[in-house]
Amino acid sequence: MQTHKFEADTGKILNIVINSLYSDSDIFLRELLSNASDAIHKRKFMGLSQPKLLNSSDDEIFVEVDEKAKTIKITDTGIGLSADDLTETLGTIARSGTSSFLNSIEEASDNKDAAKTLIGKFGVGFYSAFIVAEKVSVTTRKAGEADTSSWESDGQSGYTLSKVEEEHEVGTSIKLFLRKDAKKYADLSKIKSLIRKYSDHISVPIFVQSKDVEREQANSAQALWSKLPSEITTEEYTDFYKSSLGFFDDPYITLHNKTEGSIDFTNLLFVPKTAPFDLFEPERKTKVSLYINRVFISSDVAGVVPTWLRFVKGILDTTSLDLNVSREMVQDSPVIKKISRSVTKRILSQLKKKLKKDDLEYDAFWDQFGKVLKEGLYEDFEYREKIAEITRVYSFKHDKLISLDTYVEEMSERQDRLFYLTADSLKQAKSSPHLEGFKAKNLDVLLMTDHIDAFWMSQMGSYKEKSFLSISRDKYDLAELSDDTIEPKADSEETNVVLALIKDCLGELVEDVISTSSLVESPVRLVAGEGGLDYNLERILKAQNSDFEGSKKLLEVNCDHALIQKLPSLTANLQKSLSRVLFEQARVLDGEMPSDPQQFSKDLIAMGEAI
Ligand code: ADP
Repeated sequence: MQTHKFEADTGKILNIVINSLYSDSDIFLRELLSNASDAIHKRKFMGLSQPKLLNSSDDEIFVEVDEKAKTIKITDTGIGLSADDLTETLGTIARSGTSSFLNSIEEASDNKDAAKTLIGKFGVGFYSAFIVAEKVSVTTRKAGEADTSSWESDGQSGYTLSKVEEEHEVGTSIKLFLRKDAKKYADLSKIKSLIRKYSDHISVPIFVQSKDVEREQANSAQALWSKLPSEITTEEYTDFYKSSLGFFDDPYITLHNKTEGSIDFTNLLFVPKTAPFDLFEPERKTKVSLYINRVFISSDVAGVVPTWLRFVKGILDTTSLDLNVSREMVQDSPVIKKISRSVTKRILSQLKKKLKKDDLEYDAFWDQFGKVLKEGLYEDFEYREKIAEITRVYSFKHDKLISLDTYVEEMSERQDRLFYLTADSLKQAKSSPHLEGFKAKNLDVLLMTDHIDAFWMSQMGSYKEKSFLSISRDKYDLAELSDDTIEPKADSEETNVVLALIKDCLGELVEDVISTSSLVESPVRLVAGEGGLDYNLERILKAQNSDFEGSKKLLEVNCDHALIQKLPSLTANLQKSLSRVLFEQARVLDGEMPSDPQQFSKDLIAMGEAI
């Protein structure tokens, strides 16, 4: 027998998990039954290519309750675990994203609801056994292997691992030694009612037995999605969502359809309300499990839904694919492509309906998943228009999220483009000098603060035939765009003198210095020069590639500004300092560092001394 220590802090973390889930202690059973059912599906799937791994008798999950000894034993005929598997899977908690889980749960440990949401995001699975058990022992034999192993733990310090001499069937037995305060579960009728409530849809039969009660089947063993939608209650859907897919809250959207025709398939998909912790992992794995005629194939076949719908979780079951095709072939099959197209359209149209019905509720969804959907705007030409219809953008004028359609509807006749400004934060965007002219002329500007915004906007170019216009990059004439009737006046002699002076002081720092009517309170602003990129886009590219130089900017000057008018009367040195300070502060307002911090500081001091 070998004794192993848990990874640092596992015991402590388990205690937090147990305490915050204590009021939901029932969940241990559905978690363990769901693992057992997964293991059986995995064995069936492996058996497709290696028939010797298959179970020669009927698959089942068997729950034995010993009311006297206060134990519950759950046995399955699934794939089983080798000694190595045991160390790898049950020796660590929340394997994926372990460190971030540990950190965040420690932070949340004083707040039960926050901890619960976190656990919901990561999933506790097997470890939920410790909510009710003071000791858990696992006996298991992996399909295709001769050895049986035993794992035992109190969920505190560590676990022991040993080899079992007696013969054991392939599959896993998990025995829970119930804690004093969880003895109520040592009751067969209680267990039966929990199975009916949470695990009825598990497609494998679940049998129960105790010393006094004979073996009987406790679930109906019909996959929920194979029933007709009209026969399923909202509660049943929600139970499935929680028990099989591991969520803790209610779904935002439930989508259950049976499609018949050239391709037959059933989808039972859920759009959750809160984002899972792994939403932005680089793999961008989708979460729709594929079944072929009720046989589980995989939980992440690429291509079942696009990656920008990776927050959609659920099941897709089809009879139109051959069970013997390989995973890779499934992925590329035209059948999957067709199903994916139809499912994607359905999800998008449901989201549109939800937005129409209640935009506040939709915005809560958007807050969680908007960034992911925007990836579709950027990379998926086929659905771009449809995603744009349900995209929410921050309106400067309304000071809240609106739809692109709303923006377009409110455009005046003379405005033929959608104005937008990208920035790192709303605060920065709202105080940007770029906005001043628009504010003065009562023109709305979309404020874009997600990294991906600059990318999709430049990729997409237009919405409903109206092109996007970056107010920090593109050239525009505000007088022409608004309903102004005042003719823009040509630059006067004085103006030309000031512009030449500033240009002379700044030299190579800028591409050119020109006058503008789009500023009201600020003296200057920087805009992209000829062929330049959107400001924010340029900054992101710089962050990713240190060799990326970016292009020189144009300095636009508000010649009516008192500071600018004063410039010609200053000494040559102060003219230089002031010009450079104006240039550097415009950079700072755009979220950049001064180009030369030391000089910037010297200039400020020189100006201070002159006061
Ligand atoms: P999850 O199921 O979310 O991966 P769990 O903590 O529930 O997390 O389980 C961890 C792993 O342990 C599973 O992925 C699976 O590989 C293995 N496992 C758990 N229960 C069983 C079982 N009854 N039979 C075979 N393997 C199991």
